[in-house]
This record gives sequence, C-alpha cells and structure tokens, in this order.
Amino acid sequence: MKVSLDEMYKGNVRKLQMSRSIKCPTCQGSGSKSGKKYTCEVCHGSGVEVKLRPLGPGMMQQIQQRCSKCSGTGSFNPPSDRCGACSGKGLVSDRKVFEVHVEPGHRHGSKVLFRGEAGADAPDVLPGDLIFVLEQKEHPTFKRIGSDLFYEKKVSLVEALTGALLHITHLDNRVLEVNSTGSIIKPDSWMAIKNEGMPIHGRPYEKGNLYIHFAVEFPDQLAPEAASALRSLLGEPAHTNGVVPMEELEEVQLTPVKDIEAEIKVRREHERRTGGQYDSDSDEEGGQRGQRVACSQQ
Ligand SMILES: [Zn+2]
Ligand SMILES: [Zn+2]
Repeated sequence: MKVSLDEMYKGNVRKLQMSRSIKCPTCQGSGSKSGKKYTCEVCHGSGVEVKLRPLGPGMMQQIQQRCSKCSGTGSFNPPSDRCGACSGKGLVSDRKVFEVHVEPGHRHGSKVLFRGEAGADAPDVLPGDLIFVLEQKEHPTFKRIGSDLFYEKKVSLVEALTGALLHITHLDNRVLEVNSTGSIIKPDSWMAIKNEGMPIHGRPYEKGNLYIHFAVEFPDQLAPEAASALRSLLGEPAHTNGVVPMEELEEVQLTPVKDIEAEIKVRREHERRTGGQYDSDSDEEGGQRGQRVACSQQ
C-alpha cells in the first residue's frame, strides 16, 4: 500500500475494501443443506484428476489437472442436498473493508497484519493472513533516512553572510522558524534541528533529527560600486604584490568553466583527434588527471 511521508509522520487510518473467498456461513463449508460431506467420485476427494494423453505412437503421457467435476474442491454434493448460498462449493465471495492503521514512525516495508483474513481456496483449509506492506511515496521536499529527515535550502549570498529567516513547513503543517542571524552559512554545509525528524515507531515521544543542507546562490555579476563597497566593509583582500618581482609577472585571463567533467571529455577527444601525443596510454593518464581534479575540488 502506497503511503505518503505525511501519513507515516502523523499516522492515518486507511480504509481498503478487499474481496476474497471465505467459508460459506450458511453450510459451514460443507456445501450441503444437511451438513453432510460428500466426497467427489471422480477424484476421490483429492481434487486432482489423472488423465492419459497420447504423445505419439505407443506413447502416453500422464497429466494431472484440477478435477473438472468438483473444481478441485474434492467434494461434490448431489443437487438435492446442495447449499443454496454457495451453490454447493462451500465457499462464498465476501467483501470486507479493512482499516489499515498507519502509525507514526512506520517505514517503507513496515507490515500491517490481519490474522486469518486472507480468504481461503478450499473450505477445509485454514485461511492465511492478510498483510499490508507499506510503500513510502517520495516526498517533494523531505528525504528520509531511517528516523532522520533531510531538507534542501537555497539561500542568497546576502542571507548566507548576514543571516536568513527560514520557514520550513513540516509534515504536520507546523511552520518551523529558523533564524541564522549571527552565524554564517557556508556553501554545501549542513545544520541540524534536533528532534524534528520522523517519530520513532512505538516510542511516541522520541523523534529523529531534521538536517538542512544549504546551497548558497552567488550573484552572477556584481556592480563595481557594490564591489568597492563590499571591499571597504569586509576589508581589502590580501595582496601578493611585491612578493614576486614585477618583471617576472605575466598577466593571464580566467575563463569560466561550467562543467569540468564535460570539459575534460571534450579536451581528451580533441587531443585524440589532433595528435599522436596521447596514444593508448592516454586512458590511464586521463584517469589520473580526473582524480587530481576531484581532489582539488574538495
Ligand atoms: Zn453453503
Ligand atoms: Zn473431484
């Protein structure tokens, strides 16, 4: 049964109608008015018919199939002594509404059991259990790992530096207010709100944590006035001027790289097409280069 994360947080009762075969209540499963049990004369009660089928010249194949007379039930009641409610089958189709209690803290794969409610294939067989297996649906804003929740939040550079007021609508519609004033939010950093994760099943007063992952959105451009204002407020960057003699300096340009993985691919393709400088060894070399890039990103 597909269940939303909200339902697993708050709990919910879901009603499901199921139809299944149950023992006929009129004849108690005997299939007869008198309550007498009749054994099927074709299969002698086994429900299985053995038939011979010609397979080729002088060869016969023995096949087993469900008894055609009693439909595999093993009993066949004479029309004169046949229960009207089940037409002698001993089973009737039954519809029942089940109330599935999704409890706070239930997880993907949690089971809700109804003992002996699965219905029966034959009147004499004990009915099996009906088990609902919960399947947690994806949630648009929260991810769940165990009893913890994870939340993605984008903040602007100004908010990251000077403080952000966040409003997080929780799974029970409470709105949590978080004020980050006084601390700086770094890009790709995490913060936790303790005890605001998922409830723990069977321990109603305990909850996991809510983790917030921050992405800081930098502006694409900064006006020169804004840049100089920031410099005067945040302090001039430390200069390396004077460390290297002027005549040894060479001014070069920076080119933005959007996607380094794609860039490396294009570069290697270019090398392969333009020269024998990189031959079959270049695979290994490329791998090492990729590794170096990954390290410098961290
Ligand atoms: Zn009956
Ligand atoms: Zn039979």
